[in-house]
Amino acid sequence: MLLLLNTYPLLVSEDLVFHAKATNLQSSVSVMVNSLSGLARLTEENVSDAMALTEEAGLSRVLVTDGSGRVLYDTRETDSAVGSLALYTEIVRALLGYDAFSCTYQRGAFRSRASSPVMYQSQIIGAVYAYEYDTQQAELLTGLQETLLRLSAVVGALVLVLSLVLSKALTHKIGLLLTAIREVREGAYSHRADIRGRDEIAQIGYEFNSLTDRLQTTETARRRFVSDASHELKTPLAAIRLLSDSILQTENIDRETTKEFVTDIGREAERLSRITEDLLRLTRLDNGVLDPPAAVDILPVLEQVMRMMNLVAQEKGVDLTYTAGEDCVVLATKDEIHQVIYNLTDNAVKYSAIGGSVQVSLDREGSQVVLAVSDNGAGIPEADLPRIFERFYRVDKARSRAAGGTGLGLSIVSDTVKRRGGSVEAANRSGGGAVFTVRWPLLERREGP
Ligand code: ADP
Repeated sequence: MLLLLNTYPLLVSEDLVFHAKATNLQSSVSVMVNSLSGLARLTEENVSDAMALTEEAGLSRVLVTDGSGRVLYDTRETDSAVGSLALYTEIVRALLGYDAFSCTYQRGAFRSRASSPVMYQSQIIGAVYAYEYDTQQAELLTGLQETLLRLSAVVGALVLVLSLVLSKALTHKIGLLLTAIREVREGAYSHRADIRGRDEIAQIGYEFNSLTDRLQTTETARRRFVSDASHELKTPLAAIRLLSDSILQTENIDRETTKEFVTDIGREAERLSRITEDLLRLTRLDNGVLDPPAAVDILPVLEQVMRMMNLVAQEKGVDLTYTAGEDCVVLATKDEIHQVIYNLTDNAVKYSAIGGSVQVSLDREGSQVVLAVSDNGAGIPEADLPRIFERFYRVDKARSRAAGGTGLGLSIVSDTVKRRGGSVEAANRSGGGAVFTVRWPLLERREGP
């Protein structure tokens, strides 16, 4: 840009001056040619006389030659060329019958030359040559050149300073981002990139921070899960060890006590396998390993679970009833639906008091299929409601364990339902007891033609 700024205006100005000079000089020459017209032959005398009447202001030199190029008239007093041949290019061209003009701009001056033939009855009898040496316009041009150079220097310096400042700000921000990335890579998940502004780097910083937030949350959840899982597995293992040690170390242990201990060992082993099964199911859900879904009508699955749970409910003296609407079809697998209904109904029966009642209802609501499992048990404390779907979260640990719970049932329900685009929520009923509501997107059955 600066190069263009320094050359283009100068070239244009130069060109303009050339044009102006050509017009001026050529008209001066033609005035002189006119004053010589009418002469049949050019001689030193008649040319001097004719030229004395013309105005030669501003011209540095005027030459008039005869047809052979010999100088008849020269305005230069010292070193006058009168009598000698002046074969300048312009004069030669004029003697050949053409008007000639040339102009150069060098060393702070415009040098312009113009010439025209002098004719008498269609014969070339001589040539007029004018030369102008102009420093005035050249000074103006030099002045313009200097101004442009100064301007370019100022603009150049400004651009340099500005790019230095900008690149410094940019590298500073990138440096902050790099430090943050390194810190987080080393495991400092709480480190945040403190980048202000609204530019792209600040936005990358913002995105990086939200990514780190998620990483931190995931890492915290992972650590808690690992510690909870090991704790859950440790308890039955410790019990098994204690019981087997007791059998081994008690001398003369009777058959009845041994049987009792071994039964307990079996129960703890069963608990271990329940926990590992649930953990495996959750891992599969986490990894997104799902069986391909199909259209599942929930009613037959619900009836199957109800038949199974009725026996458990009767044993506990709990009244289990259900109502169901037609055509509740969702996109999932039968096993998933079975698992969800089973886990919720099992909890409802498990946490109901003897003589309590559990109702299951299945219906369509607009574009959703809604399954509600409600009981009239103790309900869930309001403070625990938001955490009830977390892994291993239990309101009453002892009661859950005693009832054979793993603390993973609701997590499995929530993850399974969400994977198929549904939702689940827990609430307390106004008359006491809890209600769990599951919503799946309804799969409309297309009627055949
Ligand atoms: P668990 O194996 O302990 O039942 P869940 O994930 O199924 O694990 O349930 C988590 C906790 O939620 C339970 O320990 C219990 O405290 C509470 N809970 C679940 N269902 C009910 C219910 N119907 N009534 C009262 N509390 C419930």
